[in-house]
Amino acid sequence: GIPATPPRPLATRRKTRQIMVGNVPVGGDAPVSVQSMTTTRTSDINATLQQIAELTASGCQIVRVAVPTNDDADALPIIAKKSQIPVIADIHFQPKYVFQAIDAGCAAVRVNPGNIKKFDDKVAEIAKAAGDARVPIRIGVNAGSLDKRLLAKYGKATPEALVESALWECSLFEEHGFRDIKISVKHNDPVVMVNAYRQLASACDYPLHLGVTEAGPAFQGTIKSAVAFGALLSEGIGDTIRVSLSAPPAEEVKVGAQILESLGLRERGLEIVSCPSCGRAQVDVYTLAEEVTAGLEGMEVPLRVAVMGCVVNGPGEAREADLGVASGNGKGQIFVKGEVIKTVPESKIVETLIEEAMRIAEEMGEA
Ligand code: SF4
Repeated sequence: GIPATPPRPLATRRKTRQIMVGNVPVGGDAPVSVQSMTTTRTSDINATLQQIAELTASGCQIVRVAVPTNDDADALPIIAKKSQIPVIADIHFQPKYVFQAIDAGCAAVRVNPGNIKKFDDKVAEIAKAAGDARVPIRIGVNAGSLDKRLLAKYGKATPEALVESALWECSLFEEHGFRDIKISVKHNDPVVMVNAYRQLASACDYPLHLGVTEAGPAFQGTIKSAVAFGALLSEGIGDTIRVSLSAPPAEEVKVGAQILESLGLRERGLEIVSCPSCGRAQVDVYTLAEEVTAGLEGMEVPLRVAVMGCVVNGPGEAREADLGVASGNGKGQIFVKGEVIKTVPESKIVETLIEEAMRIAEEMGEA
C-alpha cells in the first residue's frame, strides 16, 4: 500500500523567527499549527472551557477567546489555567485588558492596529509587560477595521494598506525592542488576502497567521480558505492557520487540519479515497463512503481506505490503499494491503471495513 508518511510539501518554508504561544512553537521549523476561536461568552467560564475541550478533542492546537468586557477579562485567569491548549486573548479598543490578559497567564495577546488608537501611547508599557512575561503579541490587521489614516491614503483595504498597517504597528513595538510578534492581514477576498500575505512575507521575518476573514458559511468559507491557504502554503508562506466559518469552531479545525494534510504539511490521518460514482456503479457509493467515514471517525492512525463503486478502478485503488472495497454484483471484495482477504455481501461491507480498520489500527499501535 501507499506509505502513510507525509508526501513532500510543495515548497520550502519561508524562513521566519520563531515565537512560542505557550508550548506551541509558531514559525521557524515548527509544523504549521491549526487554531480556532471560541464562540461562547468568555465570561461564561464553564461554557468556554467546555468548548475549548471540544476544540482540543478535534485537534485544535491554539485557541483564541474574545475579551470585549471587564467580565470577560476577569474570566481569563481560570480559562488560561484550565485550558488544555494555549489561550490567546483577543483584544480591541481596551489596552487595560492587554495587561489583564498577560497577568492572567494567557499564552499570547492579539491586538488590532485599526482599533487601538488608544494603544499607541501604551505600546511602551505593553512591550514591557509582554516582554517580561514572555507573552507574544499578534498584530492582527483586518480589512473591516483598517486604520482610518490608511483607509484615507489607499481609498480601501488594499494589500498595500493592510501590510503598511501591520508593519507600522510592528515598528512601534520594535522601537521598544519587542519582536516577539506574529502578524495577520486578513481580508474576505482570497485574492487580496494572498497578495497581502505575499507582500508581508517579503517585507519581514515574523511568523504569519493566515486567515480569510468573514469567509462565510461552511461551504463557501471552506473553499475560500482552502484556495487562499493552499496558494500561500504552497509558496512556503504561513506558520499557523485559522479557518473562519459561520459554523461551529470544531468544523474550522477539521477544515484546517484537512488543508494541511492535503498539502503534505501534516501526516495524513484517516483518508477515505472514494470514487465519485458514475453510471457503472453497482453499489450506492455515497452512502457507503459516508457510513465508512462515520464508522471510522476519530481514528487517529494514518489509514487510507478506498471505497470504490465498481471493478473499473475499484480493485486498483483498493489495492493501493491500506484497506479497501471494490464492489460489484451485490458483493464487496475487501482488500487489506493489496490482498483480497474476503468477499462479503453488500450488507456486510461497512461492518467488515470497520472491523478490519480497527484490527489494522491495533497492529499499528503495537508496532
Ligand atoms: Fe464509476 Fe467504477 Fe470509477 Fe466509481 S470506480 S467512478 S463506479 S467507474
